[in-house]
Amino acid sequence: MPRGATGNTRAAPIGSEMLTSEKYRSIFDYACDAILIYDMNTGAILDANDKASKLYGYTLSETRTADFGKLSAGWYPYNSEGAMERIRQARNDGQQLFEWLARDSFGRLFWIEVNFNRAEIDGKDVILAFVRDIAERKKTEQRLALQYTVTRALSEAASLTEATPLVLQSICEHVGWDHGEVWFVDTEKSVLRRSGEWNCSSEFCTISRNMTFARGVGLPGRIWAEERPIWITDVANEPDFIRITAASEAGIHAAFGFPIRSEGSIIGCMIFFSRTVQAPKHDLLDMFQSIGSQIGDFIKRKQAEEELRNYAAELERSNKELQQFAYIASHDLQEPLRTVSGFVELLRKKYQGQLDEKADKYISFAVEGAHRMSTLISDLLAYSRVGTQAVGFGPVDMNAVIKQAIDNLKVAIQESQAVITSDDLPEVTGDRTRLVQLLQNLIGNAVKFRKTDAQLQIRISAGAAENEWTFGIHDNGIGIKAEYFDRIFVIFQRLHPREAYAGTGVGLAICKKVIELHKGRIWVESKPGEGSSFYFSLPFPRPIAEA
Ligand code: ADP
Repeated sequence: MPRGATGNTRAAPIGSEMLTSEKYRSIFDYACDAILIYDMNTGAILDANDKASKLYGYTLSETRTADFGKLSAGWYPYNSEGAMERIRQARNDGQQLFEWLARDSFGRLFWIEVNFNRAEIDGKDVILAFVRDIAERKKTEQRLALQYTVTRALSEAASLTEATPLVLQSICEHVGWDHGEVWFVDTEKSVLRRSGEWNCSSEFCTISRNMTFARGVGLPGRIWAEERPIWITDVANEPDFIRITAASEAGIHAAFGFPIRSEGSIIGCMIFFSRTVQAPKHDLLDMFQSIGSQIGDFIKRKQAEEELRNYAAELERSNKELQQFAYIASHDLQEPLRTVSGFVELLRKKYQGQLDEKADKYISFAVEGAHRMSTLISDLLAYSRVGTQAVGFGPVDMNAVIKQAIDNLKVAIQESQAVITSDDLPEVTGDRTRLVQLLQNLIGNAVKFRKTDAQLQIRISAGAAENEWTFGIHDNGIGIKAEYFDRIFVIFQRLHPREAYAGTGVGLAICKKVIELHKGRIWVESKPGEGSSFYFSLPFPRPIAEA
């Protein structure tokens, strides 16, 4: 990067007779790097090439007579004393490679990489310094370091509220400023509202907490309106700085802020304050453009996560409430229903045939209705019990579960003359009672939805996949159309009229709930007229405490 005047006078080297030959002088001047030659003992510059004079913005003769301190930032280790230490090390080790904060003739600071080599030229012990401007590299490094710091702060925070002060702190520490604040757009009121701060204890912060800024007003409002980072060298000289009294009491001078951008629009801004006057650093402002978007994306993601978490919690709460309601309602309905069915049954027994034909019909409708309602209520109760009652997980032998389920269905199975075969089944971790209920429903359905013109065959299978068991209940019954594969697991969903097949449509919904409790999956494969296979998976046994 060329810096200022070159002063390329081709004057004879000062202080030595080195490189007298024109040929070598040209090579020296045309080298890609700035080259300086130092006296190894005193640190005085003996010679410098054209590139060096361009880099530092001095004429060639000024460069050759400069000392290390003049070409450096001016404070330790970037001064003559620090440079002498490097020269001494190069004298001992033969070489030194290091980064250095240099200063040019205009007072601008910039980073260089210096390669010191001990050499002997014309019998004189010297240090040859190859110097390269690494401002761009440093800028990239600084941007990456800041991005890394901000990303770390963002990723370590569990929530947005936790993330904000961490981000403010990491930026403040990185740029060496005193405190920071964050403002978010309140879309309803069209103002910016303060939503977080770091390292802020003065009155300036107390008043800021309760302030709002409209678009274009004050520093936050200007960043919002102009959609760009803004730097104020000293707020004392800024007529638009609204919080000036509190700021000067708090000793605040410089300020800079950048917009937080998400999906193309400004959602807020971050502002930082320093107790010293600070000249604008354009690299820093450029860098914060991209960091502002990074923070905006994070905020949007966190907000979405938080919304999702709240939604899930709300859903869980309302599900629990609904389950509780279903349980209480079905439980409490049983009692008056028992009275109704008891009395209509009595009515039927006592008065059937004694009244007219119509009355007999009405009574039988009432008995049938009460009976159906009682089945519905007890099925609903069974369904809500799956979710409301405690789960007793333990090792369960699935062979015993099948045996129990078949035993419970003894009468229906005998009636259907079903032939049931089963693989040797594994042991799982689960709630035995609920697993019996699951198998009883599935085998019960296989029996119920059998074909009238074929011998019913039911086969129970088990297979191991990556980390779970898959069980199958296969029948050669009436089958199910593929379009109903999902619907049948929804409560009260049936595919047939009551007259064709009795039932309430609760059985498979119970199966689904039982399987979900066990962190497994349930599904069906079937072809109408050929039979159905109901599958469910259960994770491999885990330690009981974990389950
Ligand atoms: P229900 O048996 O009380 O009707 P389920 O929830 O157990 O309720 O089943 C829902 C529907 O799924 C049944 O009405 C039936 O149409 C269908 N179904 C379930 N199991 C089978 C099966 N093994 N074969 C054919 N259809 C079945």
